[in-house]
Amino acid sequence: MSRENGSAGPLLEVQEVRKYFPVKEGLLQRTVRHVKAVDGVDLTIEEGETLGLVGESGCGKTTLGRMIVRVFPPTSGSILFREGDQQHDLTQLYGAELKAVRRHMQMIFQDPFSSLNPRMTALETIGEPLLIHGLAKGRDLEDRVAEMMEAVGLKVEHLRRYPHSFSGGQRQRLGIARALILHPSLVVCDEPVSALDVSVQAQVINLLQDLQRDMQLTYLFVAHDLSVVRHISDRVAVMYVGKVVEVAATGTMMGRPLHPYTEALLSAVPRPDPHKESQRILMEGEIPDPSQPPPGCIFHTRCRYREEICTEDEPELIEHEPGHYARCHFAQSLTLQGVDAPIEEAATP
Ligand code: SF4
Repeated sequence: MSRENGSAGPLLEVQEVRKYFPVKEGLLQRTVRHVKAVDGVDLTIEEGETLGLVGESGCGKTTLGRMIVRVFPPTSGSILFREGDQQHDLTQLYGAELKAVRRHMQMIFQDPFSSLNPRMTALETIGEPLLIHGLAKGRDLEDRVAEMMEAVGLKVEHLRRYPHSFSGGQRQRLGIARALILHPSLVVCDEPVSALDVSVQAQVINLLQDLQRDMQLTYLFVAHDLSVVRHISDRVAVMYVGKVVEVAATGTMMGRPLHPYTEALLSAVPRPDPHKESQRILMEGEIPDPSQPPPGCIFHTRCRYREEICTEDEPELIEHEPGHYARCHFAQSLTLQGVDAPIEEAATP
């Protein structure tokens, strides 16, 4: 189902999205509880921006990214995607309608080694989406693939090579070329540099930034590492056990986090000033089981600032200053440690 919108709004609006996976037990495989992988997430992404989505392994960030490009549907909630002056609720689209909209949303995968078909040449790998959508074939398809290979820094003479003959960084460039050949407006980058050598990571990040500028792309950049995200993101959303716990402009969050979990993640980020001592915050305990989350604040089992109310009342995600949201009872009273000076202070001579 699609509806006329009239005024241009965010490119993507995620509203109260949940994804619960059933846990089955016993001979009859009865559902005994649900893993709440994503539990009531609201997010917006403006056209042309990069939103970093960060959290530890298992926090739900990859599940959310995959629901956005409809690899699988959410259990509930809406995912509104704007295409020109039309807004589509992706959760209500199926078949040909979904295929038509998905052309504008693509995904770059974490592992370039397993996300490419080893039996397909670079030409077939990058050109396949054009064939699937009936947009090009023959000489025209080959020309468009060659153009995209050049755009991502691959040699056109390698058009008929197979993935195994490319290096790790080149394979990720193949994956990027495949994702961008349809000229999407939104790209979900799912940990696109985590599997690469450190020396290659910066090259791929720079390439993604250049392509964003040249092709007017909007990114959702999923990562577990804030030090990667800070270089590419305009804003950052932090997830913990299926919930967003903080959202802010990147500079604001780096300088003045409002949630203790963000503070702990930031403590692992290398300091810009090597003389400034880094005080790594070691979080106690394990991440809670998302099928049996604790009562009260989801982070209270590992939080060094918890008080009695934290074990009883669940905090809401509240806007504490323009554009800066945090889910903590004490967001206003705690003074948490960032890695850089907040933007306003940095701008003061
Ligand atoms: Fe920590 Fe309490 Fe804030 Fe949760 S609500 S993050 S337990 S201080």
